[in-house]
Amino acid sequence: MRLKIVSVGEAVLRQQARPLTVAEIRSPEIQQLIQHMRETMNDAPGVGLAAPQVGFPLQLAVIEDKQEYFAGLTAEQIAERERQPLPFHVIVNPVLRQQSAGEVGFFEGCLSVPGFTAIVARSPQVRVECLDETGAARVIEATGWYARILQHEIDHLHGTLYLDRMQGRTFCSLDIYARFWKNKTTAEVKAALG
Ligand code: ZN
Repeated sequence: MRLKIVSVGEAVLRQQARPLTVAEIRSPEIQQLIQHMRETMNDAPGVGLAAPQVGFPLQLAVIEDKQEYFAGLTAEQIAERERQPLPFHVIVNPVLRQQSAGEVGFFEGCLSVPGFTAIVARSPQVRVECLDETGAARVIEATGWYARILQHEIDHLHGTLYLDRMQGRTFCSLDIYARFWKNKTTAEVKAALG
C-alpha cells in the first residue's frame, strides 16, 4: 500500500520521534508499516523514507538505492559522490557517530520538500548503531552517498530537514537545477550563487 507522504510545514516532520521496543518492531503493525514504507519509497521513487514522513513519529526509516536511480549521472559524478547501489534495509532507533571531521557538499532533495534541491554539507563517513527489522543490533559503517542518506534519514527522526542544514543560496527548483546546475561542480555552483 502506498502511504501519503507529508510535506514540509506539517508538525510531525518537526517532532522528536520516539524509539521502538523490540516487541514493537516485531509486531504485525510495525512489520506492515515497514512494508508499506518500502512500497511508498519505491513508488516515489526515493532512496530513503523515515516514518515521520508518512505521519508516524517513530524512530524507523527504510533505505534502498538502485543503479537505475543514478543513471542520469556521469561516471565522474557517481565516483565523486561515492554512490553505489544499496539493498533494501531498515534502521530502527539509530544513533549516529560522526567519524570524519571534514564535510562534502552536494545537491540533495527530500520527498517531503517536493520539487526542490540544495547543496548540503555532510560528513563523508559515519558509524551508525541501530536495530534492524527483526530487532537485532546492527553497526553500519558507511561512506559517501550512503553516509549522506543515513544522516538525512536520522535527521528526520529528530525533526530536522535538509532545509535546516542547506547552503541556502543554492536552494533551487528541480527545473532550474536540471537547466543550470546538474552538470556543474559544487565549487562552480557556489562561485555562481554564493
Ligand atoms: Zn527527507
